[in-house]
Amino acid sequence: MRTVVDAIIGEVYDRCRGNRDGALADYIPELAQVRPDGFALCVATTDGHVYETGDADTEFTIQSISKPLTYGLALADRGPAAVAAKIDVEPSGEPFNEISLDPVTERPRNPMINAGAITAASLIAGDDPAERFERVRRCYSTYAGRELGLDRRVYESEARTGHRNRAIGHMLRSFGIVTDDPDEAVDLYFRQCSINVTCRDLALIAATLANNGTHPRTGRRALAPEHVEQVLSVMTSCGMYDAAGEWITQVGLPAKSGVGGGVLAVLPGQIGIAVYSPRLDAHGNSARGVQACRELSRTLDLHFLHVG
Ligand code: GLU
Repeated sequence: MRTVVDAIIGEVYDRCRGNRDGALADYIPELAQVRPDGFALCVATTDGHVYETGDADTEFTIQSISKPLTYGLALADRGPAAVAAKIDVEPSGEPFNEISLDPVTERPRNPMINAGAITAASLIAGDDPAERFERVRRCYSTYAGRELGLDRRVYESEARTGHRNRAIGHMLRSFGIVTDDPDEAVDLYFRQCSINVTCRDLALIAATLANNGTHPRTGRRALAPEHVEQVLSVMTSCGMYDAAGEWITQVGLPAKSGVGGGVLAVLPGQIGIAVYSPRLDAHGNSARGVQACRELSRTLDLHFLHVG
């Protein structure tokens, strides 16, 4: 088993290696400083095997892949009804950083766009901002199975330039979606996006979701089973920015990408997949990451609607 999967991952990696499409995100200045050709592909199974190729140890910031994790923590902290009262679960078809609410419900359309993610951050329990961030950091660390930390330079870079996200925070406050200081919610969101991970970490985070919320190696629970389905559902409909429809037809797995160049995908009950490649396509998804997931899904017949 190990050699067959290793060989397939190696083949997919080689097929995608020459893909130089896309460009580094530069609207957060520090993100433009990374090595553009970094490339890793990792697969982790729900019984704890990790298959990896390429730059599996390179650290990069998790960015929007944090969104489903914080959403899950908000579900655990406040319960599904209280979260649903603030954040819808409808695909928006809009760019991730759109300054908008659903005109009918006056709520963010889903937790995978910034408006929904900043709202989810505002729902995290804790006595003060430091405690709330520490709870988020520990939660992500449980998913990854190791202690994760903040990339201070990326955090400061985004905090210095993130005016659009501050505008979203204040819009949310004016509509009563965020009820406390919106700048605190936005700052927690900037920090969660600036947590460093490796491609191996992302594969294990995905495998933890695939394993119904329990880390396949440590046996520690990151998310209660009753919330896993909700998190995977919004990843399915809204995880890949405004390319979610194309992704689901071509790859067919719940997934989330981030502008740091990471992508993770989940085959429930079986595996977590992660790719790191920081050049992004026009939707903000890792160009080579999308290709690698597509090729892997086709080669291994992973599309969740595939019938025998
Ligand atoms: N911190 C980034 C932002 O809000 C995350 C964007 C992303 O990965 O989509 O602009």
